[in-house]
Amino acid sequence: MHTSSPANPLTGVRNLGILAHVDAGKTTVTERILYLTGTIHKRGEVHDGTTVTDFDSQERDRGITIFAAAVSCAWDGHRINLIDTPGHVDFSDEVERSLRVLDGAIAVFDAVAGVEPQSESVWRQCDRHGVPRIAFVNKMDRAGADLDAAVESIRERLHPAPLVVQLPIGAEDGFTGVVDLLRMRALVWPDGHGTCEEGPVPDALREEARRRRRLLEEAVAELHPGALEEFCAESAVSTATLATALRELTLAGEGVVVLCGSAYRNRGVEPLLDAAVAYLPSPVDVPPVRGIRGDAVEERAADPGGPFAALVFKVTSTATGRLTYLRVYSGTIGKGEVVWDVGARRTERIGRILRVRADRHAEVDRAVAGDIVAVIGPKAARAGATLCAPSAPLLLEPPTVADPVVSVA
Ligand code: GDP
Repeated sequence: MHTSSPANPLTGVRNLGILAHVDAGKTTVTERILYLTGTIHKRGEVHDGTTVTDFDSQERDRGITIFAAAVSCAWDGHRINLIDTPGHVDFSDEVERSLRVLDGAIAVFDAVAGVEPQSESVWRQCDRHGVPRIAFVNKMDRAGADLDAAVESIRERLHPAPLVVQLPIGAEDGFTGVVDLLRMRALVWPDGHGTCEEGPVPDALREEARRRRRLLEEAVAELHPGALEEFCAESAVSTATLATALRELTLAGEGVVVLCGSAYRNRGVEPLLDAAVAYLPSPVDVPPVRGIRGDAVEERAADPGGPFAALVFKVTSTATGRLTYLRVYSGTIGKGEVVWDVGARRTERIGRILRVRADRHAEVDRAVAGDIVAVIGPKAARAGATLCAPSAPLLLEPPTVADPVVSVA
């Protein structure tokens, strides 16, 4: 693992994908994240019981850009770039490429169905790309929802050690919230509005919460010898130690932190965002990218001062113009600069640099290592192309034959 300095602003960036079997709730989770992070604003009053309906119908009518190749939002001082990962086409170049540009992922499961075939195949692709993940067991409000069974299916079919950090409060239609087993606090979403209320663990759940906390500590201690020492001591493992161990296990791919909720009922998405920030890596926590320069393999760390190198992972044609989505791996690029498309052997000019948001695009002057942005200006660069400083060419991915420009109305 690569350590990161807290002074480095890149540690506040999370480039994430949301992965799911069709219908598990990827769209709903994405919408909730964009709503909670303020990039989608609800219009008018929301009355008891109508939150979900309002959210769905009004926002869909407005044609929000949740299906952009990447959407930026902010949570708790962090910038989260959500990268769209097409779930329906297994093993396509597009899925592979989107997995390549993200640093971490949230895997969404259905609390009734547990692990389904598509979640399994995309999980394996993540394994191949070394993408750290956390799991969100969604649809806890459904009849037949069973967190323990879903967790067992994660253990059996995906094979990582599940590290369950929450205890559900209520079941099925009566699911109202969770006990956060790290802080031993109850998080409840009362009916009618989507705001999370924090309080003490209900008396009836106290013993079960303590038992589950102990199970979590045992699972961590088994996987993480470093945490064992404190665990074996008489005193309980501190929340901070446990959180650090969970992050290390996540980054090493040895365990998967499991949370639960109901995106449709607006329950559980705030702690999911907190967990994404706490446990999933920033661009400086992942290994340097590798590329080919001449005959040699060269590594580039996420260093804004290094030579510029970026991978084009999607090109779309929109009303704003031809948007070329880039993951910047090293260096810095500014408006008006000229870059080299290594595979195609031609120069391209970066005209405008945009952070694509659900509600509007924010224009910025520069993009640095770790950033995901869309640029306007390149005329021919295709998905899969490497753009880099003309003085330091590095081929990140061989060019592919057919990657059409996608038209977005
Ligand atoms: P996707 O195919 O993974 O993007 O799934 P969607 O987000 O489109 O959700 C599929 C269906 O499940 C839709 O009808 C959603 O309204 C519904 N859904 C999503 N989240 C929940 C949830 O937490 N509880 C319930 N009961 N239904 C949900």
